Amino acid sequence: MRILISGAGVAGPVLAYWLNRYGFAVTVVERAPAPRETGGHAVDLFRPALDIVDRMGLTQPVQAAKTGTERLSFRAENDGRLHTLEIGRLMRVVSDRHIEVMRDDLVKIFYEAVRHGVEHLFGDSITALAENAGGVDVTFERGAARRFDLVIGADGLHSNVRRLVFGEESRFSTWIGAYLAVMSIPNYLGLRDRMEGVTGVNRMVGVYGGAHLDDARAVFLFRPAAELGYHHRDVDRQKELLRRHFAGLGWEVPRLLGEELDNATTFYFDSITQLRMDGWSRGRVSLAGDAGYCPGPAVGGSTSLAVVGAYVLAGELAEARGDHTRAFPAYEREIGGYVRRSRTFAVGAARRFVPATRLDLWSVIQGVRLINHIPTPIARALVGLGARGLRLHDEVVLKDYPRGPAVKADAAG
Ligand SMILES: Cc1cc2nc3c(=O)[nH]c(=O)nc-3n(C[C@H](O)[C@H](O)[C@H](O)COP(=O)(O)OP(=O)(O)OC[C@H]3O[C@@H](n4cnc5c(N)ncnc54)[C@H](O)[C@@H]3O)c2cc1C
Repeated sequence: MRILISGAGVAGPVLAYWLNRYGFAVTVVERAPAPRETGGHAVDLFRPALDIVDRMGLTQPVQAAKTGTERLSFRAENDGRLHTLEIGRLMRVVSDRHIEVMRDDLVKIFYEAVRHGVEHLFGDSITALAENAGGVDVTFERGAARRFDLVIGADGLHSNVRRLVFGEESRFSTWIGAYLAVMSIPNYLGLRDRMEGVTGVNRMVGVYGGAHLDDARAVFLFRPAAELGYHHRDVDRQKELLRRHFAGLGWEVPRLLGEELDNATTFYFDSITQLRMDGWSRGRVSLAGDAGYCPGPAVGGSTSLAVVGAYVLAGELAEARGDHTRAFPAYEREIGGYVRRSRTFAVGAARRFVPATRLDLWSVIQGVRLINHIPTPIARALVGLGARGLRLHDEVVLKDYPRGPAVKADAAG
């Protein structure tokens, strides 16, 4: 049975790994010409995703790739005092197990785990999908047309497969009130194990380095009064918007928005957008990760959700021996609760991360003191009072699926 996966990010290779282990013949098509090194950003893996990493035998390389960011030091706008939060303590409030890694490192580790058993088509993209009784006829931008039994879109928030099968992204995306920018800069602050920054009303800036990074990343989060108008490829306009919304903020911000922004080797700017689809499978096509259920980049634990979603989709296909009419609904049922809780959490986090008023700013600082000075279970209980669903990752109970081949070798060819 042949399965095509679009996208070799996080969900794509995890799905490919498990499908390959179950005996399916897997092809991955990735638009980038090679496993991507975009200069990316740090992402979080929480307990259920780390349990899956364990089951894939990848605990050691993932541990070794930890960013090593241990502390968060920031000052409030118009107040020079530095408040420091131990990130481990904060994360223990959210989950019993947590690792932060650079997305690029994670993608590389997952890719290495599947590169020999799975066919990869780099530098290509699907242009059309036509489903018929025998399978899905797929045409590509560059390669020859082929037929597959199933097609999975794991091609991220701006998914191509979703657009081809379900329609334009705007039908499913909701702006949840914030914007995010990330750029790569020289590590002139000498940051290795901490993020340093400044937070003001409706805006915050943080800079962090990593244990094995030569450069540093500057992250900007802000919440304008209304949605902004810009084209997603118009980088000059995005930089102008960033400069406008962070004007007058102190600390290193004038330098970051001046020479560093002019010279940044990588620059990412996007709205924090949530995808809301009632179901993410149609016929022989389904979606995994951000393509189907992105709760919002940087605010909803979407990397863990992508890993869990991919694991569950593969497992349900194995359990149903490739019968997608049973496997796809089972997959949606199995992760539906986690998806909904992640959406709710992300909407709250987009509000909480960036204080909306001076009072909120004060509360954030008090929260830092609280988490630093009282035992974790008490901090968890107190923080939990104001943030429902804080333990959403640890509430996930992973299903056990077959550990070995589930479809016959002759059906896999
Ligand atoms: C700036 C930023 C900060 C973030 N911070 C965090 C964080 O702190 N914590 C966290 O958990 N998550 C964070 N995220 C989210 C995290 O990166 C994603 O949730 C996660 O990578 C989802 O994985 P995915 O495989 O679904 O999608 P992606 O990682 O986006 O992978 C999609 C893949 O599909 C490929 N692709 C796209 N279009 C096509 C096409 N037409 N044909 C073939 N291939 C295609 C892409 O090149 C990419 O390789 C952040 C995201 C961003 C952008």
